[in-house]
Amino acid sequence: MPSRRSFLKSSALLGAAPLAAATSARAAAAPSAKPDVKITAVNAYVVDRAILVEVASDAGVSGWGECAFDGGGLMKTFVDQLLKKEVVGKNPFDVRKLWDWMFFEHHDLGPGGALPNAIAGVDIALWDLKGRLLGQPICNLLGGKYRDKIEAYGSVPVRRGRVSVDDCVKSCVRFVEQGFKCVKVRIQIREHYLNPDPDPTFAYAAAVRKAIGPDIVLMIDANNGYSAQRAIATGRKLYEKYNVTYFEDPVSDQNLAEMREVTAALHDQDIVAGEKCYTRWQIKDLIVQGNVDVINPDVVKVGGITEMDRMATLSSCFQKPIQMHNTRPTISTAASLHCMASAPLVARFIEFPEVGTTFDALQKLFRDRVKLEKGWLHLPEGPGLGLEVDAAAVRAAAKKV
Ligand SMILES: [Mg+2]
Repeated sequence: MPSRRSFLKSSALLGAAPLAAATSARAAAAPSAKPDVKITAVNAYVVDRAILVEVASDAGVSGWGECAFDGGGLMKTFVDQLLKKEVVGKNPFDVRKLWDWMFFEHHDLGPGGALPNAIAGVDIALWDLKGRLLGQPICNLLGGKYRDKIEAYGSVPVRRGRVSVDDCVKSCVRFVEQGFKCVKVRIQIREHYLNPDPDPTFAYAAAVRKAIGPDIVLMIDANNGYSAQRAIATGRKLYEKYNVTYFEDPVSDQNLAEMREVTAALHDQDIVAGEKCYTRWQIKDLIVQGNVDVINPDVVKVGGITEMDRMATLSSCFQKPIQMHNTRPTISTAASLHCMASAPLVARFIEFPEVGTTFDALQKLFRDRVKLEKGWLHLPEGPGLGLEVDAAAVRAAAKKV
């Protein structure tokens, strides 16, 4: 087992190699292909409003990741009992190969949903670990950055009417008061409440537009709630009466023919979809068949940074900007920022969930925060994700599931 000191020595050699090559074609003996480090443990922790994953190494350094926040006990079982077997004893620098083993060895358990949600926690932790071992932020490992900060939009849930119009307006105004230039109201209609009648959407859109004024960008997320015909009528009314310029998931994102029909009809608005695309193949089908204007995959759902990076390449091939779906303020946000910073083609905004107290308990498990300034999220600068996890606090806060 290599000591941390011997690892750092080999890492320094690795970093020095290009310079040596440039100064002498006969440079000193080439360093080994990759530092000799092994993964020793993988553990998931279900805490308040998040599922975090630690990947430990024999270099004395850990990386941290996050799974999508759903099914805590199920996610922990996936990570601790299944995915762990694919990565312990392996080299964390082989992250793409490890992703393939986690995904293809277990794809019968669901190539969309639970499996990629769980893989995301391990994969993000592997990228964090790689960055920490090399002393580099993840965006540098992804090819460098196009941008240092990304404008965020405030995301406000309505929960199919369970959040009142007044409370929705208060949340939107709180974002605007913090400097956000865009808010999104999530109506959360979904397929099992299709084409609601009466439709609550317009009451929320009217009240929010009145409260935030004409200059703030307003998005509406129907959460898959309409048939194509109703979505087209609703989208036109939202645009004409309330200047809603982004319309997310107007129809089921599993119905790509309808998505294409709606996108073609609503050419004044950007149609956004992709938060339920879990793989590069699904996002390819959404782009090619659904032809939406903007894709919004979620890094803690798609199997992490490895698959998101592939999606970023696809998005640039088809000139479909990425506007990352992001419902968690810590690791998910940091990982999303590294992906968006290094992606060639991105939309104006990234989603951000809350500027109040909802995530206070989660934030206390970290020694720092992603910098949020007047509605802009700044790319963390430290190694890996650039966030310092308080590991002892996470273990103490972990729930029994
Ligand atoms: Mg959505």
